[in-house]
Amino acid sequence: MTRMTPLLDRNERFASSYTPVPLGPPTAQVIVLTCLDHRVDPAIVLGLQLGEAPVIRNAGGRVTQAVIDDIVYLAFLAEQLFAGQLADDRLFEVAIVHHTQCGTGFLADPGFRHRAAEATSLAEPALEASAVADPHTTVKADVERLLTAPKLSPKVSVSGHVYDIDTGRVTTVLDARFPNGAPAS
Ligand SMILES: [Zn+2]
Repeated sequence: MTRMTPLLDRNERFASSYTPVPLGPPTAQVIVLTCLDHRVDPAIVLGLQLGEAPVIRNAGGRVTQAVIDDIVYLAFLAEQLFAGQLADDRLFEVAIVHHTQCGTGFLADPGFRHRAAEATSLAEPALEASAVADPHTTVKADVERLLTAPKLSPKVSVSGHVYDIDTGRVTTVLDARFPNGAPAS
């Protein structure tokens, strides 16, 4: 008996009616980047099904170098594997979703940030940069950061959204556009 036991029971029920999903391009043509917060699961909030969209999660749903590296690699992989199966000259849209009441928001407080730096050995400027105090502001900054990443494929578009914990509603802050500024539909 571990804390995983009830979850493994749920998996058993899931597997009993499971149909394998073949390897193919993500059918929603979207990659979701969002926070690891357990109240912000995109499979539930956005109704994602298996095979529809890769999901990248970290504290805050921030665009870090590691996230950029993953997206650059996923674009390369999609071109290699699915070149003939993708819609026109587009690969996918990266939807960045920040949320209200984010736990990283505590890092905007200097005292909290100092204690966090001491406890984790992470640098205070890095902790400050990761804070989502106002998701509307940070999501705009992160859309820009990703769109201007040197290795981002010109076939990848980026959009920005905020999830409201109180209402369950996702609001689009920035519509999808490509690195050259062209709007994506
Ligand atoms: Zn969060």
